[in-house]
Order: sequence, then structure tokens, then C-alpha cells
Amino acid sequence: MNTDEEIIHHCDENWYDDIKIEYQEINVEQESWVIDYIWRAKDGDVDDGFAKNPGDIIMMDTILISFCPFCGKKLVDQKKNTW
Ligand SMILES: [Zn+2]
Repeated sequence: MNTDEEIIHHCDENWYDDIKIEYQEINVEQESWVIDYIWRAKDGDVDDGFAKNPGDIIMMDTILISFCPFCGKKLVDQKKNTW
């Protein structure tokens, strides 16, 4: 029933490769919209000693959200919608 379009919020205001806004499992029982942030090392980060190789993951973060922080759109809770 869910298409890829409904699970990932493709935001015109988000031009960061490292940040995704998607609906996903946050534990075994619950799902939520989240900001998924993965900071992968660039050449400059390796030069600065943050990572050994370009592409290495320096930091990952997942934050629960109800609204898109870039465009302000209210993100619909997929599960509540089906009840
Ligand atoms: Zn947005």
C-alpha cells in the first residue's frame, strides 16, 4: 500500500546529501518520521584527522520529528492514518 514516495519525504528545500527525512521503525513496536543524518568523511575531514578514509562514517544521528525542518510540512503518521 505504501509507495516509496510516502516513506521518504523528498524535500525541495533539503539540499544536503547527508540528511534524509523518512518514515521508519524506531524500535520493535513503533515507527515515526525521523531525520536521518549520516556524516561521511570528505577529503578535508581526513586531512583534519576526523577519519582515516574518505567515506568513513564520522557520526550518525536519528531524531524524531513531526514536521519537516526544511519546508515546514506536517508529516503524516502513516500508522495512525490506517487506523
Ligand atoms: Zn520538506
